[in-house]
Amino acid sequence: MAASGQCLFCRIAAGQIPSKTVAIGDPDLDRALYAFEDIQPRAPHHVLVVPREHIATLNDLKQDHALLAGQLVLAARAIAAARGLSGPGYRLVLNCNADAGQSVFHVHLHLLGGRVLGWPPG
Ligand code: 5GP
Ligand code: ZN
Repeated sequence: MAASGQCLFCRIAAGQIPSKTVAIGDPDLDRALYAFEDIQPRAPHHVLVVPREHIATLNDLKQDHALLAGQLVLAARAIAAARGLSGPGYRLVLNCNADAGQSVFHVHLHLLGGRVLGWPPG
């Protein structure tokens, strides 16, 4: 699906709405993904990683998105490593639809770290 002009994260990824860019540090990952600081951080490190392609929810992922889904995780791992979180640890979260509290309908991976994170999540 092409980027949607109405979608907040499509517009952020396209640079039409300002955000604090987070370097992913790999040209292939940068081509496919955009990473930025969450506007309302829930931890000392709270980064969002989104595909540049508009995909509304995890339910809309197709077999063709297998590479992209893996790239999301690899990008978050690279950002976590660059921030010194590999040893202490971090959490990756993908919320899907209402019960999980998804509020922006463009797939996004949360990278949370920098403090001890409670389990189970609320
Ligand atoms: P969800 O609840 O859908 O999993 O997560 C959406 C996330 O997007 C939330 O953590 C929220 O703080 C973040 N967010 C919402 N609007 C904006 C925005 O305009 N800019 C940035 N940087 N983050 C946003
Ligand atoms: Zn979008």
